[in-house]
Amino acid sequence: MVIKNSIKLFKQARKVLVAGVNSPVRSFLSVGCDPLVMMKGKGSRIFDADKNPYLDFCLSWGALILGHAHRDVVSAVKKSIQNGSSFGATTKAEIEIAEFIVKNVPSIEMVRFVNSGTEATMSAIRLARGFTKRNLLVKFDGCYHGHFDDFLIKAGSGVLNLKEASSLGITPNHIQTTLSLPYNDSAAFAHALDQYKDQIACVIIEPVAGNMGVIPARKDFLKTVRDLTQKNNILLIFDEIITGFRTNLGGIQAESGIIPDLTCLGKIIGGGFPVGAYGGRRDIMENLAPQGGVYQAGTFSGNPVAMAAGLATLKNLNKAFYRNLNSHCAQFALKLNGFFRKNNVDCFLSSHGAMMSLWFKSTPASDFRQAKAANSGLPYNRLFKFLLKKGIYLPPADLESFFVSGAHSSKDSDELLHQIQNFFRIENVGSKKGEG
Ligand code: PLP
Repeated sequence: MVIKNSIKLFKQARKVLVAGVNSPVRSFLSVGCDPLVMMKGKGSRIFDADKNPYLDFCLSWGALILGHAHRDVVSAVKKSIQNGSSFGATTKAEIEIAEFIVKNVPSIEMVRFVNSGTEATMSAIRLARGFTKRNLLVKFDGCYHGHFDDFLIKAGSGVLNLKEASSLGITPNHIQTTLSLPYNDSAAFAHALDQYKDQIACVIIEPVAGNMGVIPARKDFLKTVRDLTQKNNILLIFDEIITGFRTNLGGIQAESGIIPDLTCLGKIIGGGFPVGAYGGRRDIMENLAPQGGVYQAGTFSGNPVAMAAGLATLKNLNKAFYRNLNSHCAQFALKLNGFFRKNNVDCFLSSHGAMMSLWFKSTPASDFRQAKAANSGLPYNRLFKFLLKKGIYLPPADLESFFVSGAHSSKDSDELLHQIQNFFRIENVGSKKGEG
């Protein structure tokens, strides 16, 4: 495979962009090679700067549920941009997409659009603090909610008041006002609430975690979180930035029947454009400026072109779409896990609909500690590089989820299956009999 244009362009990029990228994981640092420069996407495929095609299972980190350059999205964007790209004023598209979201996502009675997932979560916790007049935020280890200071806090050595920032530049103030607890651990959650309940404004959680591999919150854990937050007047925020519109129209809240007070959305609702949103109960949302005292604003919020792309995407989603997509992925998971079992390979594919991740262990992880332990070492890097050479693009980091879109055929997923099987046959990685 010739990648000389990618190499040349990346060299150029390195001179003017930090590490040649605009977001750290794109640098391929986790998988130990230089990234490719991408030029084009169509359906299930992307093409690099040397025109090499790749089956794309990263899909802009889960944003492209219809695949690349879907006809309806392209046409909606063209139509919208012909009428101007930004007004800084309300437009019809943002009313329609807001109505669609309110109709489908159980917790959302009102919504506000922003420009990214980070902006959505950051604004949602400000709103929660303003509404409850409390300061503390509870999050869970391994959940990712974007790069705002309050979220870049991790548990220290397992004790509530030993916390650390996971980035430089985070002030002690932020460390003090965030608690990070183990995922799927009801006892630790109840204990933290016992100690801090009167100070906690909100609890934010990915109800199916997608940033430490795919780890669904256990139903009993999610129920404990809901019950205890409700009982103590703490707002519960679901970060459905990955899961929103990924497996069904109503998100994990519709599936589980556990309804948060606020929900954050992003990715899919922007149809490939930079969009985020947060919404929830009317009495909470009305605390936002100008109606209420919680300030949040944005020049490009609800941008008409982004809203048109998002609306065109959402209009393609319905029960039949999800039935096909989810059963396509269930088949894939069944076949791959069958292969692992039959060949005594110590690996497991976790999936939730069209959201998947691979454990280099035969049992799925249920929290961040287990996730890191399962995937420590280099097997994912080797798999990633092997697949890349075969024309398959997975996320360039072991604990990120990979995705399937409506544009992927069963031939596409069979090719992934076939090449993963080849990898394990050739490399003997994860085999219980011989350590790779
Ligand atoms: N929340 C979750 C669950 C995410 O996966 C991400 C990004 O991947 C974010 C929030 C942040 O979204 P953005 O990258 O659009 O700021």
